Amino acid sequence: SGAYAQGKELVVATDTAFVPFEFKQGNTYVGFDVDLWAAIAKELNLKYKLQPMDFAGIIPGLQTKNIDAALAGITIRDDRKKVIDFSDPYYESGLAILVGEKNTDIKDAKSLAGKTVAVKTGTATVDFLKAQVPDAKLKLFPNIDNAYLELATGRVDAAVHDTPNVQYYANTAGKGRVKVVGSVKSGDFYGIAFPKGSDLVPQVNKALATLKANGQYDAIYTKWFGKKP
Ligand code: GLN
Repeated sequence: SGAYAQGKELVVATDTAFVPFEFKQGNTYVGFDVDLWAAIAKELNLKYKLQPMDFAGIIPGLQTKNIDAALAGITIRDDRKKVIDFSDPYYESGLAILVGEKNTDIKDAKSLAGKTVAVKTGTATVDFLKAQVPDAKLKLFPNIDNAYLELATGRVDAAVHDTPNVQYYANTAGKGRVKVVGSVKSGDFYGIAFPKGSDLVPQVNKALATLKANGQYDAIYTKWFGKKP
């Protein structure tokens, strides 16, 4: 029953910009999530089209079933599990602070009090900072690249986002202009997300387990992150 059995073309959402999980290179989307889903789809014989969209639209899109699955470095959380389903975890993550190259006074979450912090709409970072540093002034951006640009041009004091994305940006486009001052949270896990009750969940979990056992997951991981820690 359902979309899987009917062999229809699935609509698979990704974020518009979340290096190195999904980002535009020329006219196509590439990244860890993009490769991981391609391998899963091959394993399960699924037809699909990728639909990049702002992160904040993804969970609502799953709830209304306009999207059949989503990969966007989506953090598995109990509150989200009430409205959508997740696959087994596929990547361990956390949150990190990015500041200007010359900044010396921001060292940890506490030191963000009273500072202007660029964050991405609808993400776990927003909830984390509202709870942990209520005095921080959050400046919201639908696209994290614009938040980082705001930091690089000195219009905010810091940016906080998922650790692998912060690190990737600091080592590439942000090199020489920004630096990572440390992790503020660890032990988060990303899952592939589905509408509640989707019959794809057990199939995708089975495919994930196969890819982990046969080395394909590790090959994709190494391609985007280098050797596993
Ligand atoms: N992990 C973050 C969250 O789930 C979002 C990451 C992203 O910007 N795609 O809230």
